[in-house]
Amino acid sequence: MPTMSGIKKRTRRSVYDFIREQRMTTKGEIAQVLGISLPTVSKYVAHFLDSGLVAQGAKLSSGANGGRSPIAYTWVADGRLAVGVDITRDGVTCVIINLAREVLFSRHALRDFERSEEYFEFVGKQVETTIAEASIDRDRVLGVGVAVPGLISEATGQVTYGRVIDNYGVTPADFGRYIPFETRLVHDSDAAGLAEFWPSHTVENAFYISLSKSIGGSVLIRDEIYRGDGEFAGEIGHLRIHVDGLRCYCGQKGCVDPYCNASVLSSRANGSLQEFFDRLAAGDPAITEVWDRYTADLARAIHNIRVLFGCTIIIGGDVGAHIDRHMDGLRSKVDCLSFLASHSETFLIPCSYTNHPIATGAALYLVDEFLQDLGPVQPTPGGTSGRALRPTGHLGPVGQSPAGDAAAAAGLPRGSIHASSRY
Ligand SMILES: [Zn+2]
Repeated sequence: MPTMSGIKKRTRRSVYDFIREQRMTTKGEIAQVLGISLPTVSKYVAHFLDSGLVAQGAKLSSGANGGRSPIAYTWVADGRLAVGVDITRDGVTCVIINLAREVLFSRHALRDFERSEEYFEFVGKQVETTIAEASIDRDRVLGVGVAVPGLISEATGQVTYGRVIDNYGVTPADFGRYIPFETRLVHDSDAAGLAEFWPSHTVENAFYISLSKSIGGSVLIRDEIYRGDGEFAGEIGHLRIHVDGLRCYCGQKGCVDPYCNASVLSSRANGSLQEFFDRLAAGDPAITEVWDRYTADLARAIHNIRVLFGCTIIIGGDVGAHIDRHMDGLRSKVDCLSFLASHSETFLIPCSYTNHPIATGAALYLVDEFLQDLGPVQPTPGGTSGRALRPTGHLGPVGQSPAGDAAAAAGLPRGSIHASSRY
């Protein structure tokens, strides 16, 4: 099997990243900025053109010195696509994203989770329907990331803890039997964190709190998502904030989850978070009281995270998508708990990515893997976006990989449209 050397892969990745960051460039500019010979640049550009990752643009003006007009090459954001699926207790959301983290299409269906072949088949049909309705080129699909509430083993890729929807032991193959693409299982709050941190971010260290139907967290340390020695680092939903408090689904009492999951709010407003925040903005007294209690509990969790990590804390998930105009009250509660003369506006922020973050993040796992397969990141003068957020080789096994096997046999990254060994 032909394999590329590490240096060649690094060069290939740096050429790709440069075109992506510049959006439009010429071979001469790539060679000059990256310090690579023109024949080498031509080889990689030809490969990217062949595989649909780069397109040829217009001829540029030759400039004052005359000579042949250089050809512009543009990055193709839709060169590869990935499907993300967000599985919750009562619904399935599918999205299709491109390499720029843009959601091209989304679809939601109501369906209660159940451990049955009928359910897995239903999810497979949702994926197929989403792809058909979006009218995308199937050959460009890298695979499907399925986000579930539950901890995922990095070694086996299966759910090792799944009390939110009773999905313990579910494997990628359970879904993969009905999905004709490479299929991965992803922890939902890790997915949301990946969507938030992708592709570039202004902080090196951050804690993302996912406040959705259940609560999770994702920790970014020195630009990499940290998972600890096991699979549960950042599981903030089970931080104990009340002695002998409300019963959590985990079996313990007083965890953050039963106080701060999104249902605590939506259950007071006909199941709608939007309605809850509309009524909060309108000054509804009963809703204001619920919010006051909710933020008091959330502030405790935030304070504890701040003491442990001392980093930026991002409020995300379904609640985070609505919280922007209500941050001041939350920040004052956090400040009251601090042992320092702290001002939480310096570290406590609402999430910036709110468009189906869990499903999008699940799909980004496939994009991340595709980029890592292109080659290791090399910092370039054009910027640092595109760096790996997760360590290489920490993905679980796949469900099915019909296209990936052929690509792997040709020494190509998965999802390459035209297998070629010329580069
Ligand atoms: Zn708990």
